[in-house]
Amino acid sequence: MKKISASRALIDDLVAASRILAQHEVLDAYGHVSARSDKKPDHFVMSRSLAPALVSAADLMELDADSEPMPGDKRKGFIERYIHGEIYRARPEVMAIVHSHSASVIPFGATRTKLRPIYHMGSFLWSGAPVFDIRKTKPDNDLLIRDRPLGQALASSLGKCNCVLMRGHGMTVIGDGVPEAVFRAIYTEMNARMQLQATQLEGPIEFLSDEEGRRSAAANRGTLERPWELWKKQALGRK
Ligand SMILES: [Zn+2]
Repeated sequence: MKKISASRALIDDLVAASRILAQHEVLDAYGHVSARSDKKPDHFVMSRSLAPALVSAADLMELDADSEPMPGDKRKGFIERYIHGEIYRARPEVMAIVHSHSASVIPFGATRTKLRPIYHMGSFLWSGAPVFDIRKTKPDNDLLIRDRPLGQALASSLGKCNCVLMRGHGMTVIGDGVPEAVFRAIYTEMNARMQLQATQLEGPIEFLSDEEGRRSAAANRGTLERPWELWKKQALGRK
């Protein structure tokens, strides 16, 4: 295994996160999770290009501030690693990121309907889920964030929010640690699914107010350990 500038605990969390997100079908063969290095904060760690359910510690790579691998590491990284590198650069407080193509979120990136917190587990969405339209940066595109300028444009659409939707592609969520990023990825998908269900009932839909969102998000932050322990056990079958 290549030497990585990150603690063993962070490496274990990243492996668990990959398996958890695959088990919850937020990631399939595509999508990825990363963490800012806790030993070298301008670097980050993520798997080599591999389906998340198959990731183990030996598959993790250290990437520099420009999202490039360490000298001598010839393994193939994810094309879209620039999503992570440019958000870490723009948001120094962000410690972990999940990028997914989770299905229920896609309609909100393709229509004028805003993704909004419909229940308390999605309350972190109160600050908004802006839509990134790659055409505005690169008219001749293949939807993928395949270089630094596209990563910068995505980070700029994210702004100060916790979640950015990507038209015709997916979403990216941030967290103050791996458990929070995983929590937000799972509950963004669930919130989207429920919001779609609610549109079939008599409206208007009563969303959380900004104040409820702010308070509820703070309350959820205090209980992250509970789902995290459960999800780890379910995904790894131990610990
Ligand atoms: Zn993608």
